[in-house]
Amino acid sequence: MNKKKKINKRTLKINLISSCIFIILIGTIIISKNFTKEEVNAEPVIVPATATVTTLSKNHTVNKEGEKYIYDAAKVSAILNYKAKNDNHKIAFLTFDDGPSTTVTPQILDILKENNVKATFFLLGENIEINKKSKELVKREFNEGHAIGNHTYAHNRNNMLFPNNQVNVPIFMKDVKKNDDVLKNVLGQDFTTRILRVPGGYMSRLYYNDSNLPEFDAKLKKENLISIDWNVEIKDASGKRNKGPAELFSILKEEVGTKSKVIILMHDTYGKVQTANVLPQIIQYLKDQGYEFRTIK
Ligand SMILES: [Zn+2]
Repeated sequence: MNKKKKINKRTLKINLISSCIFIILIGTIIISKNFTKEEVNAEPVIVPATATVTTLSKNHTVNKEGEKYIYDAAKVSAILNYKAKNDNHKIAFLTFDDGPSTTVTPQILDILKENNVKATFFLLGENIEINKKSKELVKREFNEGHAIGNHTYAHNRNNMLFPNNQVNVPIFMKDVKKNDDVLKNVLGQDFTTRILRVPGGYMSRLYYNDSNLPEFDAKLKKENLISIDWNVEIKDASGKRNKGPAELFSILKEEVGTKSKVIILMHDTYGKVQTANVLPQIIQYLKDQGYEFRTIK
């Protein structure tokens, strides 16, 4: 009887100890799990766009910080169409097309941040939707005060936008809307942008005497969209071989010339590593020449 009691006491002791170990073990797992969760959340330097939306008005294009750098898209359009008065006030608009890319865009954003410069990104829905990281990059662009524009969803894939070298207005607008929906899904339903960069540029539509342009223009006006081309390019997307930073920089200097307002076309899509490599030099050059940096809204 006594022996049995002793055994029972021992079993109780063992049970108690193992229960304690079990509780400690579970506790450790829960704590470490939460920690990793926090770590994962803290990894990207991104505040979810929805967090900033509350302080913004409806139909915003940039965040509060970004508001300080905006320039009216209609005025930019007038500059590009030689309809603006030349006031010798030097302004540079850095624009990046075809992003985001998970390879080049983070580098571009780091450089812009280091130099305290804001830019305008003309995004492709197709690239936004590649993965979670690419969507996070769109939020990062927004949260760091850059402006975001529409570059269509699929960038004239299979020449669907310009069959017979004429813009198919309904298909084009559908692609723009599809991209706008992607942007709203990532940045919140209150996000809106009225700036559009036509794949290949609006200027090539003019160049080819696109007979659908009157219909296209009317539709853009109705949808409150402003097409924004460029007057400077570094030619980082043209030609078969990749140009090095020195060549890109010399093209830029030549293209900028004596212009007081420069809308610069660059690309931050996959493979455009040299664009990121030359960007610090470009920014420094423009700063030295007295340009201030603005974004397009
Ligand atoms: Zn493009």
